[in-house]
Amino acid sequence: MSDECIFCKIIKGDIETQFVYDDDEIVAFKDIHPQAPIHLLVVPKKHIPTVNALDESDAPLIGKMVLVAKGLAKDFGVNESGYRLIINVERGGGQLVFHIHMHLVGGWENDK
Ligand code: 5GP
Ligand code: ZN
Repeated sequence: MSDECIFCKIIKGDIETQFVYDDDEIVAFKDIHPQAPIHLLVVPKKHIPTVNALDESDAPLIGKMVLVAKGLAKDFGVNESGYRLIINVERGGGQLVFHIHMHLVGGWENDK
């Protein structure tokens, strides 16, 4: 946990956010500034700043993030039309929040 981290605050409940998924390791919620009709963030509860901070012991957690995203894509009806899973890494990669997270974006009309 990091006191300054906005996603840690969301996970702790300090910033009220509706979770679309919640288990002991991972939460997911809607992005506050959606870039697509469906734009979710899949976020581990463990505070890991970036992909560059991952180590071998995090491999199962990262695998689970992809599986949670897969389930959410089905829940939100974009599994067949298709979607993107994106992890931005460091400032040059577009990362703004330094608590690792995966974007699930989809639902564009031309995918139908
Ligand atoms: P990044 O650029 O770091 O990969 O993505 C961070 C994402 O978090 C952005 O798309 C931004 O809109 C989203 N975000 C930032 N603060 C909040 C917040 O307080 N609530 C929610 N739901 N999303 C947030
Ligand atoms: Zn954090």
